Amino acid sequence: MASAFGHGIAAYGLGKLFPKSVMTRKVYTLGLLSSILPDLDVIAFKFGVSWDSMWSHRGFTHSIFVAIFWTIILLIFFHRKDKFSSKSKLSIYYFLATVSHGILDAMTNGGNGIAFFAPFSAERYFLPWEVIQVSPIGIKNFFSKWGVEVLKSEFIYIVLPSLGLVLIGNWLNKKVYQ
Ligand SMILES: [Zn+2]
Repeated sequence: MASAFGHGIAAYGLGKLFPKSVMTRKVYTLGLLSSILPDLDVIAFKFGVSWDSMWSHRGFTHSIFVAIFWTIILLIFFHRKDKFSSKSKLSIYYFLATVSHGILDAMTNGGNGIAFFAPFSAERYFLPWEVIQVSPIGIKNFFSKWGVEVLKSEFIYIVLPSLGLVLIGNWLNKKVYQ
């Protein structure tokens, strides 16, 4: 994984691209949750799932299929009464916040590839740019030299681009959405 911080910051930056009127605190909170949700699969290690199975880390929960499924769940449970126009924007936001996790993981320089097309294919993918230092699993290992390397690379490849999204989002909110 990229670190939970990295995933959360990306979800925040993505949220800024959407009209302020739909991006309530609840939506940001759910977006943040969505961006770290795929890593629930680290539990699989505890159950002794072999690493090349679809259920191992960076498998099924990191797929596009799960991102769509999770988006539908959020809309049903948290936005049932919203207008169609905000629902459609929120569905794009939740999908992006969730799928951004796998995309960032696919840019890390270690670990498994991402099973983007699970459950239809167990094939694992990396993006051509493996520039993000892979993050250790577990908080104990994070406070180390390795952790510093992670923060450095995430600053360049996640925090700075997310700041870019915030600026673009501010501009969109001022000039385009009204
Ligand atoms: Zn992950």
